[in-house]
Amino acid sequence: MGVHQNYIAGSWVDGASVSRNVNPSDLDDVIGEYAYADAAQTKDAIAAATQALKTWQNSPIQQRADLLDKVGNEILARKEELGRLLSREEGKTLPEGIGEVARAGQIFKFFGGEVLRIASERVESVRPGVEVEMRRDPIGVVGLITPWNFPIAIPAWKIAPALAYGNTVVFKPADLVPGSAHALAEIIVNAGVPAGVFNLVMGRGSVVGQVLLEDPRVNAISFTGSVPTGRKAAATAIGRMAKIQLEMGGKNPLVVLDDADLTTAVNCAVQGGFYSTGQRCTASSRVIVTEGIHDRLVGAMVDATKALVVDDALKQGTQIGPVVDQKQLDQDLSYIDITRKEGAKLAFGGERLNREKTGFYLQPALFTETTPDMRINREEVFGPVVSVVRVKDYEEALHVANDTEFGLSSGICTTSLKYASHFKRNADAGMVMVNLPTAGVDYHVPFGGRKGSSYGPREQGRYAAEFYTTVKTSYTMP
Ligand code: NAD
Repeated sequence: MGVHQNYIAGSWVDGASVSRNVNPSDLDDVIGEYAYADAAQTKDAIAAATQALKTWQNSPIQQRADLLDKVGNEILARKEELGRLLSREEGKTLPEGIGEVARAGQIFKFFGGEVLRIASERVESVRPGVEVEMRRDPIGVVGLITPWNFPIAIPAWKIAPALAYGNTVVFKPADLVPGSAHALAEIIVNAGVPAGVFNLVMGRGSVVGQVLLEDPRVNAISFTGSVPTGRKAAATAIGRMAKIQLEMGGKNPLVVLDDADLTTAVNCAVQGGFYSTGQRCTASSRVIVTEGIHDRLVGAMVDATKALVVDDALKQGTQIGPVVDQKQLDQDLSYIDITRKEGAKLAFGGERLNREKTGFYLQPALFTETTPDMRINREEVFGPVVSVVRVKDYEEALHVANDTEFGLSSGICTTSLKYASHFKRNADAGMVMVNLPTAGVDYHVPFGGRKGSSYGPREQGRYAAEFYTTVKTSYTMP
């Protein structure tokens, strides 16, 4: 099998170097070789996107709608195969991988429809006889920088609206998951995207990503990743007045009140905390529990966590796949160590596991008796590590839930309408879940957070237009 190439200016091209992706469930399984671009090739892609913008920004909406719909249909038709590739390179279980691919397909189809709904607005002028019109223009060339944990859904929810609203794209996927990105690019190319409108540039963040952030021809950057990288990205992009949108980390609370349905609460906590190996920005990493239900909940959570099947992502029956790579595994183990030393009780898990194949397997770890000031409750681990905080009542629970620099997703389990309503209004987060895990969202509504989790306009749904367009107000005296 040859090296998977980058797609620049309408051609598949070799890179300056080659990288391999490895299956985290089986370290002997090398999935493929991928071309890594250098700075010059990244600039070639930006030049192509700049040139293509002239035509694409005025392309017929039917052409764009058809393209996106075709991409969506192809993704959906191949969801099993693409889901398998995704699970093999990222390590989430096969049902999770297929589910993510299906979501990517739906996103393309959604934005295929949105193209037909781009509307202008006319208002009366305060000056007699003058006509005023507000329309949404494309923002221009957009650089898309994505993380490894949703290798196809996150690229989809950036590429689809970018193209829908008439922008051209330079897409830089995460280093660990080039396979899903390449497969998606092939689908977009085969659907007939004009040369230069869409470019795939695989490579290092410090090389490809940095050029995208610095190049004045890139009008906007949509970034999803960690807080430290996001902060640096923002400083560079804002320094040259580029538009930027950042989606970053979380330390998402799940509040469980005395009146909660125990089965629902356990399911929300275990599913939200450990599924996808805890590697979700929306994972419920802090479970904040009132005194009356605390011991019952912890007991049931320990039982449920013990019963989780940790194994090869592609094996039938696996519930928790491996950690994505050695670096992330080291980070998870280091937080387990730190939390023990800070005096929390390890109620279950936290051990490395051996399976038939050599992989990055980690037993989900559940800590109890933690306090809000501990590092485990303040910093994102991004692994299968959940902490429980005991609180007196709802008021303290809400305070602890909001006492974080993050603000992505916030959940509550309760049967009380009063507390559910109050929490929805007062949780300091971009997304709030009642009797549902903090992770798991729809594809047709806005996604994003507050405080340290996000910066700039929301992604997804109709709100994506805020980022991918710029408003023009025109005045006419007929
Ligand atoms: P990361 O910050 O390490 O990398 C993100 C992307 O930035 C990658 O493509 C990387 O190559 C690139 N990059 C690295 N250095 C760069 C530089 N100097 N200039 C430009 N680009 C650079 O994040 P990750 O480890 O891939 O992903 C995990 C993080 O993503 C977690 O913090 C998680 O919470 C977050 N995340 C957030 C959301 C959300 O929507 N809020 C969704 C998924 C993941």
